[in-house]
Amino acid sequence: MPITLTRSRDTGAIFWNHTCETCGQPAAFGVDCFPKAGLDLILAGERERGYRKLGRWYCREHRPPSPPQQQPQQQQTSLF
Ligand SMILES: [Zn+2]
Repeated sequence: MPITLTRSRDTGAIFWNHTCETCGQPAAFGVDCFPKAGLDLILAGERERGYRKLGRWYCREHRPPSPPQQQPQQQQTSLF
């Protein structure tokens, strides 16, 4: 599993460690990542759905390309 969650015994803080889906290195780029929704599900006992909401993670080398941005169409206004 590319994401592991650990909780501090002292403070109760939750730390997540995400690694690349492809190579297993530390990953900084998340895709389809909804951390709040995922943690809420996991804490409610729905681990599988919760982990899915935490998204997929990739390192710089393996991150998927961004979808093409839609360019706003320039409107031509005629003054006459
Ligand atoms: Zn990678």
